[in-house]
Amino acid sequence: MSEAQILAAVQSVADKVAIDYKNEIPIFVGVLNGSFMFVSDFLKAYPHPCEVSFVKLSSYQGLTSTGIVETLLDVPENIEGRSVIILEDIIDTGRTLKELIHIFSKTNVKEFKIASLFYKSEIYNGEYAIDYWGIEIPDKFIVGYGLDYKELGRNLKAVYQLNQKHMINIVLFGKPGAGKGTQAEFLKEKYNLKHISTGDLFRYNIKNKTELGILARSYMDKGDLVPDEVTIKMLEETVNNNPDASGFIFDGFPRTTAQADALDAFLKTKDLKIDATIALDANDEVLIHRLLERGKVSGRTDDQDEHKIRNRFDEYNEKTAPLKEYYETQGKFHSVNGIGDIDAVTHRLEKVIEEL
Ligand code: AMP
Repeated sequence: MSEAQILAAVQSVADKVAIDYKNEIPIFVGVLNGSFMFVSDFLKAYPHPCEVSFVKLSSYQGLTSTGIVETLLDVPENIEGRSVIILEDIIDTGRTLKELIHIFSKTNVKEFKIASLFYKSEIYNGEYAIDYWGIEIPDKFIVGYGLDYKELGRNLKAVYQLNQKHMINIVLFGKPGAGKGTQAEFLKEKYNLKHISTGDLFRYNIKNKTELGILARSYMDKGDLVPDEVTIKMLEETVNNNPDASGFIFDGFPRTTAQADALDAFLKTKDLKIDATIALDANDEVLIHRLLERGKVSGRTDDQDEHKIRNRFDEYNEKTAPLKEYYETQGKFHSVNGIGDIDAVTHRLEKVIEEL
């Protein structure tokens, strides 16, 4: 919404209030912090004598209202017998407004009115009917002209809708051969996700004989895990190199609790999170059969030797299996039967994802 549109709306609110209060000197009370720009422009647009003061309440943290409303700066003095018009930047659920009404109902003001620049009428559920407003807006998170997202954006002259891209981040979980890579190929198309397979990344590095590849090779050849510091760094770099992804499928990562902790901490710095960890269940004998078959065509040495495969299972049981509890504690763990047609398994995964 452009600056011109906003200023026109401010003028219209000032004009309406001016008609009602031309014969007295009202006190306009701005609600900090969000209303400071509105109050400033409103006063410039208001043609008659008036006074101004502020209250400060707090209820927003991040994107959604916490419901906690605190009084940080109290009602102005000497308002007894006066007409008070609250100037709010935005009315949405009405929680802040309810608190304001509560605060002012304890005073002896002559009259108490509400003027808001923006009004989300579709979600306002308060009893008090708003007296004046500038622009009705849909229930979107807006930033600018005094309104912030995490304290930023207040200085913007225009108002913008925050881009709340709906990201979905999934960990595919399961033993080697469970079908994580195969299923990720389908899911990434369907949900427009970026597939990150740490195994593939290592193999790419090995093929290109990079420093990382040379280091990883000695571990992978035996079926051991590559050290966490190396893997975590590689994973973070890959996520950072894909800022436009609408979500990630993590395949083969995390494989240890330290990696899971690192992933949570890293995603948090980017305002992201894991939405679900989905395990593909299959028993060892089926998996060994699958891996040996794959080894015949893929050329992967770690798939061609039953001893190495069993070592990978041992690594899994010892280091990766505890992650089930890790994600269960967070309420994010799901599992599907990984045995059957590829299509049937994909449907089982889609069912879990669609319910998220
Ligand atoms: P994958 O293709 O997922 O079966 O991985 C093949 C091999 O790459 C593993 O056996 C490990 O040696 C190494 N690797 C892949 N992902 C990780 C990880 N998250 N942590 C440690 N090593 C890994």
